[in-house]
Amino acid sequence: MTKNELNGFRRALESKLLEIGSGSSNREALVIETTSDELDRVQNANDRDYAMGNLERNSSRLGEVRDALRRIRSGEFGVCAGCEASINLKRLAAVPWASYCIACQEAVDREKTADRSEVDIAA
Ligand SMILES: [Zn+2]
Repeated sequence: MTKNELNGFRRALESKLLEIGSGSSNREALVIETTSDELDRVQNANDRDYAMGNLERNSSRLGEVRDALRRIRSGEFGVCAGCEASINLKRLAAVPWASYCIACQEAVDREKTADRSEVDIAA
């Protein structure tokens, strides 16, 4: 990987970090509004659940992005954490915080979904 490529990934990761960090609109949705209308209350609860889900997803993504930036500093960026092969540049362009090559990621995902009764297609 060239220095330019590495810098490009670092910029992409840093802007992702800012994007996730500025998720204040999600927090606003967490405020419980008092309402006498049952339908409104149900809607608010749904919004809250949705916002909570977003926050959880964002906080785990935040960790992944921070990890990737750390790997750039330590010179480990682009190396699979599983098999130590170079991660495909196209994969990194799409998912710059990826810590596994596609083969290892698939193995990890299979392991994660193995015990689940329902498959999470949203991921
Ligand atoms: Zn691998």
